[in-house]
Amino acid sequence: AISSDSLRKSFDGRAVLRDISFELPAGQCLVLLGPSGCGKSTLLNIVTGMLQADGGELWCDGQLLDSSARAVHRPMKKRGFAMVFQDFSLWPHMTVADNVAFGLRVQGVRGAERRKRVADALEQVQMDELADRKPNTLSGGQAQRVAIARAIAVRPRLLLLDEPLSALDAKLRDELKVEISALIRKTGVTALYVTHDQAEAFTLAARASFAPVLDSQRGVWSHLGASFNYRENAYEYEKSRG
Ligand code: ATP
Ligand code: MG
Repeated sequence: AISSDSLRKSFDGRAVLRDISFELPAGQCLVLLGPSGCGKSTLLNIVTGMLQADGGELWCDGQLLDSSARAVHRPMKKRGFAMVFQDFSLWPHMTVADNVAFGLRVQGVRGAERRKRVADALEQVQMDELADRKPNTLSGGQAQRVAIARAIAVRPRLLLLDEPLSALDAKLRDELKVEISALIRKTGVTALYVTHDQAEAFTLAARASFAPVLDSQRGVWSHLGASFNYRENAYEYEKSRG
């Protein structure tokens, strides 16, 4: 489980995140929904450890990851998280299989076990037949599938996805959001999914979850409790915290 308590971040004296608190139970998917520039990537970067918060605390499985007050900033490499980026960010000189194997190599997974984990991950995203290709021969949708396989192969404590579909065309977005949603539930990975697309958010938020949404009046994040009922494809907002 991941949680934060009153995270704050400013750039050049301008508050981007103000008192962001969230709770993400293990095995669930939390969707952060908000328009461009509202601070979604900033929050993800604090969670991964790329950035340090100015205030507040970030916790994972009972372990303090970030607290400026207590001078704790657990390094990115030690958090055991995996990330999927908007621009795929595959390593261009490596084959599809080597891209997926890389994180396993770092974890010390060897030989037959590593090959099996790579094959399994590629099969989950239906990319097993293209294992020997180089990234520049793939379509955008194929490249993003490989990036997802690379992220799940390491069995991360948390999977972060930062607008993973925004570089793709509308038809592919519709297909992939359903596939990613199914994959997250099937693998049981804990996931933090960022998007500015409301339809995508509601597809992904399979279980009741809690979505910080931008309050454009005040120009800061605020908290709206949002209940999502995936099966009935219905959702309902209720104001829970100011
Ligand atoms: P998008 O949907 O376009 O990706 P976002 O919600 O991810 O937007 P962020 O990238 O988190 O938004 O940026 C939030 C605000 O913080 C923006 O106004 C941005 O200009 C500012 N910002 C982000 N990083 C920095 C930085 N390193 N220095 C100064 N300002 C920054
Ligand atoms: Mg962003």
